[in-house]
Amino acid sequence: MSDTDCIFCKIAAGEMGELIYENERAAAFHDVSPQAAVHVLVVPKSHHDNICDGVDGDTLAAMVDAVQAVVEQTQIAQSGYRVITNTGADAGQAVAHLHWHVLGGQNLGPLVVPEH
Ligand code: AMP
Repeated sequence: MSDTDCIFCKIAAGEMGELIYENERAAAFHDVSPQAAVHVLVVPKSHHDNICDGVDGDTLAAMVDAVQAVVEQTQIAQSGYRVITNTGADAGQAVAHLHWHVLGGQNLGPLVVPEH
């Protein structure tokens, strides 16, 4: 089910923006504010606030298919890439629709978090 107020639901449904890949259950599009040479977001077409919000296995598999297609399309398989999902306030999640950031096309350095 999609959420009519959710921007990523609208993008995934093809109602705004441009998709670079889609299958039955997932879609991918360029991040509007790229943090790396390649920065693509992979989302489910159904609305889930985050990865622990009732996502079924078929949808997760479709998202993995989307990651694989994006990696192939952007030719980052050889050089390497990172797939991350921010969840909740501590992780700085800004959009409450599950999304995986696919980052690559350059050396990403180590995964850095602030000191605790
Ligand atoms: P997060 O902080 O993990 O919730 O990441 C949200 C991401 O969505 C950020 O990297 C934003 O730049 C990106 N974003 C927000 N609105 C849009 C949009 N309309 N199209 C593409 N990317 C977006």
